[in-house]
Amino acid sequence: MIVVLDGSAREGEIAEVEKRIRNFGYDVYRSSGENSTVLGALGPAREDVRDALGTMPSVERVILASPPFMLVSRAFKQERSVFTVGDVEIGSGKVVLMAGPCAVEDRESYLQAAVAVKEGGAHLLRGGAFKPRSSPYSFQGLGEEGLKIMAEAKEMTGLPFITEVLDQHAVDIVARYADIIQVGTRNMQNFELLKELGQIGKPVLVKRGMSATIEEWLMAAEYLLSNGNHRVILCERGIRTFETTYTRNTLDLCAVPIVKELSHLPVFVDPSHGTGKWKWVPPMCLAAVAAGADGLLVEVHPAPKKALCDGPQSLVPEKFAQMVDLLKGVAQVVGRTM
Ligand code: PEP
Ligand code: MN
Repeated sequence: MIVVLDGSAREGEIAEVEKRIRNFGYDVYRSSGENSTVLGALGPAREDVRDALGTMPSVERVILASPPFMLVSRAFKQERSVFTVGDVEIGSGKVVLMAGPCAVEDRESYLQAAVAVKEGGAHLLRGGAFKPRSSPYSFQGLGEEGLKIMAEAKEMTGLPFITEVLDQHAVDIVARYADIIQVGTRNMQNFELLKELGQIGKPVLVKRGMSATIEEWLMAAEYLLSNGNHRVILCERGIRTFETTYTRNTLDLCAVPIVKELSHLPVFVDPSHGTGKWKWVPPMCLAAVAAGADGLLVEVHPAPKKALCDGPQSLVPEKFAQMVDLLKGVAQVVGRTM
């Protein structure tokens, strides 16, 4: 439930309402906006509780949260969530680019890719050390060795990095190295993993499940916030539709303005997995920024034909740099910076 307090409520009165909510057995979250304070009561919506809280003098209204998410919603927090990773501001209006190969394959090619994407304009590096492959016979990633290579690339370029965690057991090791932890499409509803990631001190990017509705995606993020982690990025990466020939997934760009209206969390787009073909990545990146995406996650490989994973959707560094130039123009038109 969401308890909206009167704009004039003082600290003592706010604390009084918080205490009353706790006495009903709820955990309380506070969101202090410019004009008013909103309290989130975590737990089942109850009409008797709503009515009781509604009689308190500093309570303006109580919303029985009908969408099954609350902390991620703009009803709870109007202002957009902004946080920094290294020197990079996420969610501030500046378009953020995360780029690099799908997987860390070896030290030399990763360092080469890292330098190239930095020169091309990336703000963060991407790369997988633990890979969620559909076939058990495909390259599964280098594990901790891959994380060490990414740490070296970070040192070399000064760019922080994002990498995926596949299961609860690897959370500690990935969190030791990564600046942002990625939850992949296949894990969006791995609730035990989400609960664990709610308790770490690192930002988390949650990809949309390939068959997930927008509401299910927001509920996945709600798991992170309700477990204490508020530095969360949502990432649209394409969903499964009947189209399988011309695109790998169907990139749902309409989800961007919808989710930005529903939630205060930053929204990114990954057109590499969203289309599955490098050729469609630049136009979808431009469209994503025009639609309001806070940032992009893009696969770039120095030699896509030799890539061990997702070569067909990886841009060569030159194409990435050309795309970034075009993106700057779009960003300017829609009142954003890069
Ligand atoms: C990836 O980013 O390399 C990846 C595996 O993404 P997704 O979970 O969207 O398939
Ligand atoms: Mn990939």
